[in-house]
Amino acid sequence: MIRAQRINISGIVQGVGYRPFIHIAALRYGLSGYVANKGGEVSIHAEGEPASIEAFFDFISNSYPNGAYVQSIQTQEQQVEGYSTFEIVKSIEDNQSVIGIPADKDVCDECKEDIFRPGSRYYQYPFTSCTKCGPRFTIVRKVPYDRCSTTMEPFNMCKECEDEFTNPYDRRYHAQTICCPDCGPQVRLVDKNGEKIANDWLEYAGEMLEKGSILAVKGIGGFHLVCNAVNNEAVERLREGKDRISKPFAVMFRDIESARRHCEISRAEEELMTGFRKPIVLLEQKGDSDIPRSVNPGLDKLGAMLPYSGIHMLLLSRGTEVLVVTSGNRSGFPLVTREEDAFEQLGNMVDAFLVHNREILSACDDSVTKVVLNSAQPIRRSRGYIPVPVILKGCRSPILACGSDLKNTFCMVKDERAYVSQHIGDIHGPEILKLYREQIERYMEMLDFQPEFAVCDMHPDFKSSQYARELGLPVLEIQHHHAHIAGVMAENGLEDSVIGVALDGTGYGNDGTIWGGEFLISSPGDFKRVGHFRKAAMPGGEAAVREPWRMAGIYLSDAFGEDLWNLNIGCTDMLREKNWPVIARSINSGLNTVITSSAGRLFDAVSAILGICCCNNYEGQASAELEARAVHTEGMYSYEIKDREVFEIDFRETIRGITSDMGRNINPGEISGKFHNTIVQVILEACSMARRVSGISTVVLSGGVFQNGILLKNAVPGLKDLGFNVYTNLQVPCNDGGISLGQAAAASGKIKNLGAV
Ligand code: ZN
Ligand code: ZN
Ligand code: FE
Repeated sequence: MIRAQRINISGIVQGVGYRPFIHIAALRYGLSGYVANKGGEVSIHAEGEPASIEAFFDFISNSYPNGAYVQSIQTQEQQVEGYSTFEIVKSIEDNQSVIGIPADKDVCDECKEDIFRPGSRYYQYPFTSCTKCGPRFTIVRKVPYDRCSTTMEPFNMCKECEDEFTNPYDRRYHAQTICCPDCGPQVRLVDKNGEKIANDWLEYAGEMLEKGSILAVKGIGGFHLVCNAVNNEAVERLREGKDRISKPFAVMFRDIESARRHCEISRAEEELMTGFRKPIVLLEQKGDSDIPRSVNPGLDKLGAMLPYSGIHMLLLSRGTEVLVVTSGNRSGFPLVTREEDAFEQLGNMVDAFLVHNREILSACDDSVTKVVLNSAQPIRRSRGYIPVPVILKGCRSPILACGSDLKNTFCMVKDERAYVSQHIGDIHGPEILKLYREQIERYMEMLDFQPEFAVCDMHPDFKSSQYARELGLPVLEIQHHHAHIAGVMAENGLEDSVIGVALDGTGYGNDGTIWGGEFLISSPGDFKRVGHFRKAAMPGGEAAVREPWRMAGIYLSDAFGEDLWNLNIGCTDMLREKNWPVIARSINSGLNTVITSSAGRLFDAVSAILGICCCNNYEGQASAELEARAVHTEGMYSYEIKDREVFEIDFRETIRGITSDMGRNINPGEISGKFHNTIVQVILEACSMARRVSGISTVVLSGGVFQNGILLKNAVPGLKDLGFNVYTNLQVPCNDGGISLGQAAAASGKIKNLGAV
C-alpha cells in the first residue's frame, strides 16, 4: 500500500542546502514526490511504502545540514498523487508563512579544495560555493531564497554549472550561488579611477601587500582596508589614512596554525574561529609574536579571524601570512559596499582597489566575539549571525524595537521570533542615521513585516526614539538598564523576577539622571531600582565620556576635597594644567551639570588616576586598557554600602586606597587587579542584600561593563558559590548592541501585563 504525507519544516531551513539534503534522503528511502521552499518553510510531499516514509521521517527528524535550525516539523496525510520520481520544484510564493533567512557562511572545505586544486574548473576562482557555503543574507533581496531573489540573478549559468545545479548527486545541486570563471562574477584590481592595474590580480595584489601597500578589498559584507600586519610602516600609514589613532585593528591569519604562532588559542576559541560563521575572536597575543603594537596599542588581546571568502583565501595563499583587515569606511560613515563610494571615500587611504561585480545588498561588518568561562560572548553581532532570530516565547505582537543610539541595532519581532539587525553603529551622524532608516525598511520588506508597536529608549534626545515617534504607532518607552536585563531574561527564558545587575556606561534613568551602576529587581515587563553606585557629577557632560581625566577629577575631589592637591600623583598635575578649580566651581554652581551613577565612568576615573588612559581615542579605551593592565592578585580595596531604601555604593574609600597604593609605588597593574576584585566583591555583597529584601536568588548580569572578562570570570563563579543562579547574554552583546532585543522583550512583557488587567 502506498501512502502520501506532507511534511512542513520551519526554522532556518532556506539557503542551507535543505532541499538537496531532503532530495538525497528521499531517494535513499525510495520515495517519490517533491520538496519546495514555501514562504519561509520547506514543504515536502512524500509518497511510498509506510515503513519507508516512517524511516525517512525518522532520518530527517534527527539530522539536518550545517547552519540549519529546525523549529518545528509538522505532518499531514495526503492524497496519493502517483508521482514517479522525487524532485525539487520551484519555490511556492506564500507570504503568510514564517520566514527564515539564512546567514552568510564561509567557503566550505570542499569548495576550498576546488579553489586550490590545479585542473579543477574552480581553480583560483574566488566565488566558488555550494549548497553548504557562501554568502546569503548580504546578497538576498527577499524570500524565498532562490537565485532570482539574490544579486547572483544577473549571472546566467553556463552549461557545466547548469549540469551540476540539476544533478541530485552533486553537492552543488540547487546551490543558488553556483557559478564559475566562465559565467560568474569577476575580480578586478583597479586604481581609484576604476582603471585596471594588472591582468593577473592575484599575482599583483599579493605582491603589493607583501611590499607594504594598502588595498581596499570588496568582501562579503562590504569593503575592508587591508595591509600586511607585520609591516609596521604599512599599519601606521593605514592608521594615518583612516584617522584612527589607537583603536585596535583586527587581523586575518592564513590558517589556524599561523594564528597559533602569534596567539594562545583554547579549544573553545579554535572552534569559534574555524566554525562556518568566521567571527573575529579576541585572543591573547603571545609575547614573541612579531605583529607590531601599532595593531592593538595598549591591549593584550588581538582580534583575529580566519579567511572566509575566496578572495581572502587566495590573497593569504601568497607571501603574506597575516593581514590587517579593518572596515572600509570613513569615520562617521557606514561601511562601504559599492565601488563608486569606495573610490570616493577610500581613495586617499589606499594604493589600489580589489573589486568585483557582484552587488552587496546589506552592509554587514565582521562579527566580534570572545570566549569567557568557556563559552562564546558576542561583542558585535553581524556577519554570519544575522539574521538568525532569537526566539521570544509568547510574543505574538509585531514589535519594532528601535534600539540605542550608540552601537545601534534594531529588532523586529514576528511570531515569537526576534530578528536583531546587524551592527548599525553610532546613529548620531546623518550618514549612519540614513543607513539605519534604509535597513529598517529593507528588513520590513524582507520579513514582510508591519509593526503594531514601536519601542524606544527613554532618552529624550535619542535619534532612535525620534524615529519611533515618527511611525504613528503606539510607542512604548523602556528604561535602558531594564532593557539590558530583560534581554538576558528573554534569551534564557526567565519569566520570574530576577536581581538585575546592569553595569554600563550611559543610560537615561527614570529620575532624569544618567544611570549605569544599577541593581534592579526586574520582571520582563517592569522593574524597581533597589541600589546603585554613588552619584557623581559629569564635568562637561558628554566631554567627561571622551576625557576620563574629568571623572578622575570628580572622584578625587569627592574623596579628598581640597586635599587632593597634596597628592603626589601625575593625575593632579594634569588637573592643575586643565584648570580643575574653575571646572569644579562651575559644577558646584549646579549649572548644566549632568549627574551619573555610571560604572563605566568609575572605571574611566581609575584608569586616568593610574595614568593609564586620560583621554579616549575610541569608546571604552580607558577601561579596556585598565583591564589589559590588570595582574592577578588577591587584594582588594574598601568601599561602603549605605543601606537605605535604595542602597548606595560609595567608592570614596576605594579611591583613597588606590592613591595610597600609588604613593607606596605599587605597580598600576596590581592596583588595577585590586580594583577589579573590589567591583566583584561589590556585586556579590549587593546581590546578597537584594536577596535578603526580595527573597530572589536569580541574578542577571548585563551592560557594557561586563565585556570586561576579569569581572565576568570572577563574578559568575563568586555568585554561584553564594547559591545564586546566574545568567548572562548568550546570543546578543551585553553592550548596547543588545538593547533592541531587550526593548522588544520588555515591551512584550508590558503588553502582556496590560492584557492581564
Ligand atoms: Zn562549499
Ligand atoms: Zn559556470
Ligand atoms: Fe547600555
